[in-house]
Amino acid sequence: MTDERQGLPSASGFYMEAACDGRQNLLRTLLPHELAPERDVEMASRGDRIHDALQTGDVSLLTEDEMVDWAKCKEAEKKIYDEWRDGADALEYRERRMWLHDGKGQPLVSGKADVVFRQDADALILDYKTGFNPHLTPSQRSWQLRVLAVIEYNQRRVPIRVGFIKPKAYEKSDCTDYAFEDLEFAHQQIMEVLRRSKEPDAPRYAGSHCNYCPARNRCPEAAAYSMLPSVMANTSVTMSKKEVIARVQKLTPADWKFIVQRGPMTVNIIEASKASLKALSVEELLAIGMTIDEGRRMPQIDAGAAFAVLSEFISTKALWSCFELSKGALIKAVAQEKILTEAQAKVIVEEKLKPFTDDTRRSAGSLEEV
Ligand code: SF4
Repeated sequence: MTDERQGLPSASGFYMEAACDGRQNLLRTLLPHELAPERDVEMASRGDRIHDALQTGDVSLLTEDEMVDWAKCKEAEKKIYDEWRDGADALEYRERRMWLHDGKGQPLVSGKADVVFRQDADALILDYKTGFNPHLTPSQRSWQLRVLAVIEYNQRRVPIRVGFIKPKAYEKSDCTDYAFEDLEFAHQQIMEVLRRSKEPDAPRYAGSHCNYCPARNRCPEAAAYSMLPSVMANTSVTMSKKEVIARVQKLTPADWKFIVQRGPMTVNIIEASKASLKALSVEELLAIGMTIDEGRRMPQIDAGAAFAVLSEFISTKALWSCFELSKGALIKAVAQEKILTEAQAKVIVEEKLKPFTDDTRRSAGSLEEV
């Protein structure tokens, strides 16, 4: 499938360029299969159907709920249009991709406005946000609308009104007027973002904007950001062990050290939290959507009696291979029977066990700070 954005920044994703200078550089190094899939696919298809119906007027594919939003979009659009229009009907363009070029005619960034109305003295650009969008940036601060306005301004030097239409929101629309000086300033801002993104060593800055960045699964900064406790506390997504391993592998050695050094504290926090939860009553647990089972049975075997019976069934040698000697238990037993302190018993036990001890095996080394 051809990319209508030609691999260049676009208005809808421009907030990510503005927040992360190095994003385009990373995206350029990734193969198609390395890009993260689009999020909220279901909501996006719902939005696409409503957008298509607004463009073509054909509502036959809409569900009842989508029809409600379609009708609200039409109503809000008419209201904004009527307030803006000077007299005669304005020219109308829907879903048309437009480009901002540099001084040599090279494409820099594109944008596809849901609808553009043009009259002689000005233009109106509207974008429908058909999802819930509780955190939608207001029109005044929206990079998407700013880029669309500047693209239009570069084709026709007129002031521009931009706005969002939000059928699901209480305030159903939100408009901002760009005068000439605002458009000149916005143009400079966009050029500065694009300039920074072209620096070969442009740094990457992770943040909540990474959520929708297609590079997020290959980006060390996004991986480190997603592991921050404050970020994890606010996420509703739980990660599988495989996902955790994949993200951890993208961190830097300094990050691994940071995490490992805080490991014991984290384990203690988890254990203390588990103990606190277990101390709650069944009702208190249910109130937070938890329950507690009866616990696993932990059978205690009378090893001496079992040994006597089992040694008549299998060879003593085979039976002994099933037993493990606990050094700690042995020290306690010697201390009790010989009336010694545990420190004294330990010396004796180690001495007695020496001929039978193989100390050539090593566990993995433990990490220490140098
Ligand atoms: S995932 Fe985030 S930090 Fe990484 S390139 Fe994308 S926007 Fe930048």
